[in-house]
Amino acid sequence: MSDCIFCKIAAGEIPSATLYEDENFRVILDLGPATYGHALIIPKKHYANLIEIPDELAGKAMILAKKVVTVMTKALPCDGYNVVQNNGECAGQTVFHFHIHLIPRYKGDHAGVTWKPGKLTDEARDEILKKAAGKF
Ligand code: AMP
Ligand code: ZN
Repeated sequence: MSDCIFCKIAAGEIPSATLYEDENFRVILDLGPATYGHALIIPKKHYANLIEIPDELAGKAMILAKKVVTVMTKALPCDGYNVVQNNGECAGQTVFHFHIHLIPRYKGDHAGVTWKPGKLTDEARDEILKKAAGKF
């Protein structure tokens, strides 16, 4: 994808604050961090989202998320971590090249990685389970 900013960052064509790199991924600091230490795991190959990325690479991305969170929990004075992955504009995705957000959390920070809990109604539960039945 010649016009994709994350393809260029992952390839090293655009400079980035790189925490880690291997043959499949680059891990960079987010330029608009939710908190101190907010990082992104970016695959070197272009896939728009979680549906498109191959299973094997998706698995490797999650293993890498575990590694980065483990290392950075020791390196930063953080108290917790959010691992976030947005798919689709309405879900907050702004860069349409798969990536995983690793967001360190600090007691009392006001990073908006949250939602207002609703209520699972019996009707919604039955409807959703029926829609998914036999599809896996
Ligand atoms: P999303 O909204 O899930 O698509 O996340 C895109 C993220 O990429 C945002 O948190 C941006 O701050 C971040 N971002 C966009 N451009 C750059 C860049 N050139 N370098 C680092 N982070 C970036
Ligand atoms: Zn891309």
